[in-house]
Amino acid sequence: MTQEFNVIDCHIHLNRSEQEGWNARAIEDRWDRGGSLPQLERYMREASVSAGWIINAWPTEAMRQALKSRAPKSLDEEAEEVLEGRIREVMRGRCGRKNAWLCDVAGKAPEKYAAFLGGVDPYFGTDWIVDQLVQGAAAGARGVKIISTWGQYYPSDPALQAAFEKIEELGLVILAHAGGMDSHASEVHARDYALPVQWRPVLERHPNLKIVMAHLGFLQPLSGYGSETHQQRIELARDFPNVSYDISCGYEEGFDETLIGMIREIGADRVVWASDWHAHRAVLSLQGLKRSLLTEDEKRAILSENAHRILPF
Ligand SMILES: [Zn+2]
Repeated sequence: MTQEFNVIDCHIHLNRSEQEGWNARAIEDRWDRGGSLPQLERYMREASVSAGWIINAWPTEAMRQALKSRAPKSLDEEAEEVLEGRIREVMRGRCGRKNAWLCDVAGKAPEKYAAFLGGVDPYFGTDWIVDQLVQGAAAGARGVKIISTWGQYYPSDPALQAAFEKIEELGLVILAHAGGMDSHASEVHARDYALPVQWRPVLERHPNLKIVMAHLGFLQPLSGYGSETHQQRIELARDFPNVSYDISCGYEEGFDETLIGMIREIGADRVVWASDWHAHRAVLSLQGLKRSLLTEDEKRAILSENAHRILPF
């Protein structure tokens, strides 16, 4: 008989409609089609998850390229600039509305949901980003989601310096995609945007940031146990006490001894449980973790206590 644990899910993609979720992650739409609020409520009941971080992971590059593909192809330089400006305005409007909606959902159930803003991406411009952070925090946002592979930029981009200062000042938590390339865009310029090591300059400049890097073991065995990427995670955890890792991805079909080794190398006090719902669910992994050879203290830390320390509900 496994003991009942309190479970906080630190990585949930939530969408205003099933269509939005389908558009955002069509190629991975395997578990809960669309990822709408009623579907999330059902998943949380099924998996006995008491609270979650609901995120706006904004697909900047894929959406920009999609909008641009509908425009005429042979524009002169000036017309091209006007078009890019219009696309940026459309995207700012869309991303801002999604942020406001997430804050509204979390505001109605603050003991259950923490809203994580999207749009911390150099593409949107420093002033717009800082404005979203201030407005979002005033509306109850608790964090930001950074997915530099979807925006194709490096976290150390100078355009984000002011944003990180504001994030630090407002006490927002960062959930950052970390690991391999995962773009959903047709044109990809580099593949290393989200490697853990890319965060080192940011962490050095902003010692008070609270960062959770997503996907411990993302796409095992490519970036899991024993890989160069995993070594980077261990080194970051050693050098920066404000870095933790979420456990999502790579364990959808179970929880094994290898993962216990990975967790203990990082430190069980630095790992939080997460599913990356709706494209992923990780219910088997959750049951496996509860029944695993981790100690009861380690299980409690990973399933809720560490998350609660980083972001108290
Ligand atoms: Zn995710």
